[in-house]
Amino acid sequence: MAGWIIPPPHPPTKSADEFAAERRRKVESLEERGLLGSPGIKAALLKVRREDFIPPEYRDYAYDEVPLPLPGACATISCPHSYPLFYEPLGLDRGHRFLEVGTGSGYGAAIAREVVGEEGLVVSVELDPLTHEFARRNLADAGYHDVLLVLGDGARGYAAAAPYDRVAVTAACDDVPPPLLAQLRAGGRAIAPLYEDSRQVLTLVTKGPDGVTRRASLCDVLYVGLRRLEGAEPIPRTASRAPPRRGGSR
Ligand code: SAH
Repeated sequence: MAGWIIPPPHPPTKSADEFAAERRRKVESLEERGLLGSPGIKAALLKVRREDFIPPEYRDYAYDEVPLPLPGACATISCPHSYPLFYEPLGLDRGHRFLEVGTGSGYGAAIAREVVGEEGLVVSVELDPLTHEFARRNLADAGYHDVLLVLGDGARGYAAAAPYDRVAVTAACDDVPPPLLAQLRAGGRAIAPLYEDSRQVLTLVTKGPDGVTRRASLCDVLYVGLRRLEGAEPIPRTASRAPPRRGGSR
């Protein structure tokens, strides 16, 4: 998980009001930067208390643009702008059945739960038992009792609740694992950071009504790698991708 600097841990000092003010300012800045446009995603970012998804020793940094360590072997909560960065091009919306691979803190699942509303569904798969348990507690404490949390290898998706309208992989991989595309309904969209040589490129995959997938490169990002369980079958690379547009950030 090299590639960014972790700020020094210390006991939390900020009040709920200070966090609330930082949350409002963050949403304003995401709008100013053109990263946030849809009212549903904005309302979710204003509502969910990101600080409640971060271990106490890093909580004061909740609204800084930096990924922060979580319990588990290789987990981080992505930096705040990552969520609209993924969810805006996905067009995540009310009523969607949404699959997240890499639950991490549970914050991304909470945001998605707010966006898809009661008529939608959020399923999130995490490989690391410690991280899974951390997310489970965070989501329960925040009142999200209807996010379906799965402990397992997210590269296999979660067929029991398929098909999904939208899929987000929040760890870097060579290609979107084929089971995830198989579990995506025709007309659906998936997003993932894909390795391109020494870079990672956030890539949007759309599945046409005929089931054929098309890829668009969005921007460079930096995520922890998608891990595979020992003995898991390798993921074949599938279609080639368009050259990426430079200039994004994690
Ligand atoms: N979406 C998270 C951030 C995820 S960081 C959030 O909002 O906080 C990436 C996560 O992917 C880590 O928790 C890591 O443990 C998990 N991960 C890595 N490989 C995985 C796999 N094969 N299946 C499921 N989760 C995986």
